[in-house]
Amino acid sequence: MNANGGRIGRHLISIDDLDRAGIERILDRAESFAEVSGREIKKVPALRGRTVVNLFYEASTRTSSSFELAAKRLSADVVSIRSAGSSVDKGESLKDTVQTLSAYDPAAIVIRSPHAGAAQLVAGWTEASVVNAGDGKHEHPTQALLDVFTLRRRLGSLDGANIWIVGDVLHSRVARSNILAFTRMGAIVTVAGPPTLIPRDIEALGCDSSATLDRLEAADVVYVLRMQQERMRESFVPSLREYAARYQINPARLSRRQLLMHPGPVNRGVELSAEAIDSPQAMIGEQVKAGVAVRMAVLYELLVGSPILAAVA
Ligand code: ASP
Repeated sequence: MNANGGRIGRHLISIDDLDRAGIERILDRAESFAEVSGREIKKVPALRGRTVVNLFYEASTRTSSSFELAAKRLSADVVSIRSAGSSVDKGESLKDTVQTLSAYDPAAIVIRSPHAGAAQLVAGWTEASVVNAGDGKHEHPTQALLDVFTLRRRLGSLDGANIWIVGDVLHSRVARSNILAFTRMGAIVTVAGPPTLIPRDIEALGCDSSATLDRLEAADVVYVLRMQQERMRESFVPSLREYAARYQINPARLSRRQLLMHPGPVNRGVELSAEAIDSPQAMIGEQVKAGVAVRMAVLYELLVGSPILAAVA
């Protein structure tokens, strides 16, 4: 954890890079950027003349589009590269790609990779600030920040909130980042799902675990995870039907006072029923909307907000 009174370091690789004050600082900054996003001209000049590179080596809709919009709304020059159609397809290594792009002197590189630890590696190869936009099963810190932002707006504070994270925790970088962020903000977190999809040592992150949904009614917030079939090399559940029968969140399992979240993309009818997705307690749209303001705040804090840079700005 950092100990610099809420100042963010040069990179954002893990929620562990932030203490509670650091998270709150980003959320407060995001509130002011949310106001900018409500204006007709949704732009501020904060990163004018600076370059942000988005490097996405894995499928993404929400994260890649919101990082791109965030950098553009801060007036940065933006280069977005996806593995399909780039030289990555021709066998160029991640290190060579990063070094090639460094020739443009980017202020920040945003990286999404199927490999845990990729963002940390990139940070060692470039002068730019690196933002982890999801690295394999490891972490997805900006997802956690936008989820905390969304919940803080709705609840006022996460202190004492009872949050259940349900589903495929084993393959989920969102689960890891969110357990860290929610607990740091004072929430009480329980993860639940089939024992084959709950890592054995998960309690070390500061949460409780449950193999059933019997106590789900205690939750104020039910945070549902996608079944990440692309990361499953063996069969972790007998069938998706069987999984849905025991763990799907639907109106029968969800009470009206509970809030419902999901990072997307949703497997409709598997981890969530159609009725639950479309219910008034679902906050999925608000989560997506928060993505732009929160990612603007992260880029701003990394590139402008540090005491040294602010002094010369
Ligand atoms: N979009 C999130 C991620 O990239 C969650 C998911 O894919 O299930 O990790």
